[in-house]
Amino acid sequence: MAEIALSTERLCKHFGDVEVLRDISVDIPAGTTNCILGPSGSGKSTFLRCLNWLEEPTSGAITVAGVRLQQRSGKPAPRRELALARGKMAMVFQNFALWPHLTVLENIVESPVHVLHRPRDEVRAEGLALLERVGLAAKADVYPHTLSGGQKQRVAICRALAMRPQIVLFDEPTSALDPEMVGEVLAVMRELAAGGLTMLIVTHEMAFARDVADTVIFMDQGQVREISPPSVFFTNPGTERAQRFLQRFM
Ligand code: ADP
Ligand code: MG
Repeated sequence: MAEIALSTERLCKHFGDVEVLRDISVDIPAGTTNCILGPSGSGKSTFLRCLNWLEEPTSGAITVAGVRLQQRSGKPAPRRELALARGKMAMVFQNFALWPHLTVLENIVESPVHVLHRPRDEVRAEGLALLERVGLAAKADVYPHTLSGGQKQRVAICRALAMRPQIVLFDEPTSALDPEMVGEVLAVMRELAAGGLTMLIVTHEMAFARDVADTVIFMDQGQVREISPPSVFFTNPGTERAQRFLQRFM
């Protein structure tokens, strides 16, 4: 059995009376690429946000690299465990969320220096190597507003990786991009998958999910309806909901 990088147990989230996540239990083996698919409004973003406690779950538990956070009603999660768990994860957003007043390299270096207290010189060298990997070494000293959307997202991926996370969460990383820039970002993610990074990716890029994912997690109406390898999910989905969802992409 592969080591489990992240697991949830009966994770639930309500906004007032609205039940947005219902009993989500998943195990994510280390080193796997997991694509979360599902219609708009099915709870995919809320699920990712609950994993790093950007959104506090209503009930349930999350275990990240051996650190378990159990939601107890009315009580905040213990600070130490929360910081430990969050430190294992990094997130890449649809809209990049780069700091406009910092250069590309400064965007990457900021958190490892200020949050992890690592030496700036060492982190700069690592940041440059990351930029090299995504083909943006020449952009280290420019400001984000001079970059294309695809370049910004590649920088955002470098910034996430500079925190040396064990798991990277992506929330529709290519949805805000012009179509001609989607490929360059997916190519970087494909390479990360091949390198064995553990990833959870909310996406509508069906070809990417089919080719790159180890596992497809299909969500609908706040529940995980199906967990299967893409070879099964895309040819013979086990639920009628998934069949209907896939028909829209055919
Ligand atoms: P997805 O990412 O799959 O499109 P979301 O997780 O964004 O879905 O949303 C799931 C449901 O939760 C939607 O019905 C949405 O309106 C609701 N929701 C999300 N965030 C909030 C919030 N902060 N307050 C109230 N409802 C919310
Ligand atoms: Mg969403």
